[in-house]
Amino acid sequence: MLVIGHVSFHNTARAVLCQFSRYLSRYAVCSMPCEVKPRFVVLYGSQKGQAQSLAEGIAEEAQEHGLVAELSCLNQNEKYNLEKETAPVVFIVSTTGDGEPPDNALKFVKNIKKKTLPTDHYTHLCYALLALGDTNYANFCNCGKTIERRLQELGGKQFYATGYADDGTGLEVVVDPWLEGLWKAIKAALSEMASDRTGYLTGEAGNSPKDAPDSSIPDVQLSLLSITDQQNCISAKSSVETVSELASAASSSVSASTTQTAVTDLGPASPLGNDRLASQLHDAASVSSSKPGTQTTEAGVPPVALAASLTCSLPPLSESSLNVPALPPPYLDVSLQEVNFVEQIDGPLNKETLSEVPVSKAVQLTRGDSVKTALLLELDISAYSMMTYQPGDSFDVFCPNNATEVEDMLHRLALHDNRNHQVHISLCTDTKKKGAQVPPYIPQNISLLYLFTWCLEIRSIPKKAFLRALVEHTGDNVQRRRLQELCSKQGAADYNLYIRDQSLSVLELLSAFPSCSPPLSLLIEHLPKLQPRPYSAASSCLRHPGKLHFVFNVVEFPACSLRPAGRQGLCTGWLFDLISPVLDFCGKDESSSSLALPKIHVKLRPNCSFRPPSDPSVPFIMVGPGTGVAPFIGFLQQREKEKQEKPEATFGETWLFFGCRHRNRDFLFREELEGFVSGGILNHLKVCFSRDNQEEEGRPKYVQDNLLINRKHVIDVLLQQNGYLFVCGDAKNMAKDVNDTLMEMIKTELQVDQLDAMKTLAGLREEKRYLQDIWG
Ligand code: FAD
Repeated sequence: MLVIGHVSFHNTARAVLCQFSRYLSRYAVCSMPCEVKPRFVVLYGSQKGQAQSLAEGIAEEAQEHGLVAELSCLNQNEKYNLEKETAPVVFIVSTTGDGEPPDNALKFVKNIKKKTLPTDHYTHLCYALLALGDTNYANFCNCGKTIERRLQELGGKQFYATGYADDGTGLEVVVDPWLEGLWKAIKAALSEMASDRTGYLTGEAGNSPKDAPDSSIPDVQLSLLSITDQQNCISAKSSVETVSELASAASSSVSASTTQTAVTDLGPASPLGNDRLASQLHDAASVSSSKPGTQTTEAGVPPVALAASLTCSLPPLSESSLNVPALPPPYLDVSLQEVNFVEQIDGPLNKETLSEVPVSKAVQLTRGDSVKTALLLELDISAYSMMTYQPGDSFDVFCPNNATEVEDMLHRLALHDNRNHQVHISLCTDTKKKGAQVPPYIPQNISLLYLFTWCLEIRSIPKKAFLRALVEHTGDNVQRRRLQELCSKQGAADYNLYIRDQSLSVLELLSAFPSCSPPLSLLIEHLPKLQPRPYSAASSCLRHPGKLHFVFNVVEFPACSLRPAGRQGLCTGWLFDLISPVLDFCGKDESSSSLALPKIHVKLRPNCSFRPPSDPSVPFIMVGPGTGVAPFIGFLQQREKEKQEKPEATFGETWLFFGCRHRNRDFLFREELEGFVSGGILNHLKVCFSRDNQEEEGRPKYVQDNLLINRKHVIDVLLQQNGYLFVCGDAKNMAKDVNDTLMEMIKTELQVDQLDAMKTLAGLREEKRYLQDIWG
């Protein structure tokens, strides 16, 4: 039977036919003959794939809810038409950089921001929006907020409360309940919209124009569902699988004959074998925040203290029923072909769009006994005119995955012997995945070795959807259960503790779950693209023509049970290894001067707002502890040149707030900064040392302490002299602390309350006089 009750018909036959055909095209016809399901639209804007994979998840789940989703990326505007859209629209958008839209949403955001759009442009549109962001960065969820604001200004109706998910604290905290409530909200929106259309049919909306466009749907006032209302929402049971396998997992592991699952004298309460118990205790010891528990053996053996670990859980989690995400449908066919000759492509993807530049100098800026190792690299960019940069710009460094980890991964997947085989990737013909496509960043005819070296981020932290997919390829029942727990709603805390907070890599996860043997296609489906790492220019072209300096700390991940030797950051560790021989040459050993200079692939990332004021008479304040000082070296070098060229010009005051641990170990650019002060380029250099003179109470330890001490001047520069404030460096702590301190300073100095202080800071941001370039 064809369901037509929700169609809006007009009186004339032409209108009926017109509307009916529109209806047919807008309601999907499903596999059951003549059955139609209501449709909705899912649009995403995604930089690193998170928003895309959430949008795809929604599209995949739609069928279980009796709905049809039309999925498009925001830049595929030939696939959707918001101007005429009559179905609910769900937006999933992330934010990148300094509050910028992702690349594939740029055009959409530009269009929706057009001032020429009439205020009723989207009155027909019902939408829900999930914004992804990171509170460690300025302009949290800015892209989502911008789209939301414009949709509202243009008359769009929100049918479900907007979710603002924070990667800084864990996206799932907001995403999971938001997704859970979404289905009820979509159905409510559909039924409101349908009953509204039925109104036309029965003549209640008799004044609607003949053959009206779909935008003739009258305004619908849909109830807002708040995220905190989730308990009132229908549980999205059909979107998740309920798992309560613990008992069976434990008992089947008892009967399993492998050594990994054999249960010995711990008794049936423990599903773990001795080997794994030992490793688990080791794990437990390394995770101080895990809560210890006890398990008593049947034989009356004294209880063994246990703690949860990556591979082991405790009650109540180990005994609870689980809501795990729906299994992501596989969508890639991958085959390997032995070829006589594999073209040895070396270097990153799209090499032709990058500049391969020599490292002409490498200097260690910190003393050997410093906690962190900071290095300065000088690149010779003289052969590349497109690398001309301004102070404040950054550039991307393209690095490969660690060669040993690539080898380990190939061994772990039992593919090491095939490493030179050619990889062929195509779409599964029968995939149920919406919008499935072969990852566009993986070129044709590459070897398996190249795939793992340059295309996939094998260090990436496994997402829950990936864990869910791995369950299907895990033989051991206890391991299966643990993977289910880690991706379940109930296991969210364990996921954060053992996977997210430890920056666990896919390889480390696979090592901990030895019975898991995923096919190569699964890794290609789930691992993100290997991303370049950006670094801020720490020089000015005026002072160093043809050269580009940058500074970085070698990132160190501490040792833990799964990573006994610790590890270095991917790019900083690679750079460190690469330049170590040259570092000797520059710093100590003249005899190694014959060494060839290493080359790296880079690409400029202009930053049009993080620039010194164009009017040199405007004062500015720079806050840059540690390597955050990098762009300010460029600012000051530029100012020095400008002063030399125009000595008669008026130059505003410059302030730099710098901080490090010890004056004699990690005071980066000390001589250069002191030279700027004596040359009158830098008027105020305020430095603090967090670990020197610790016993002396009241001494400034952090940059924000020095800001507070100088608050009258700082406030004067910003609010009386219309000056600028630049903050660069660690996003996690410093930038937040500086922001909080600024708020306090404004409150005290202007005698205003918190709200007004916030407004003042927001105003400075809006005017682009309070600018951040932060990372971490
Ligand atoms: P990965 O293997 O990618 O591991 C990174 C992880 O380590 C992060 O997820 C984080 O949790 C952790 N981490 C610990 N310490 C740091 C840290 N200091 N920086 C980043 N992540 C850390 N870095 C600089 O040292 N100097 C710069 O001038 C600089 N400029 C940047 C400019 C921009 C616009 C951005 C977005 C980032 C900048 N960064 C800078 C950070 C840099 O891009 C890398 O993230 C950093 O060097 C770590 O890369 P990695 O591959 O070694 O670490």
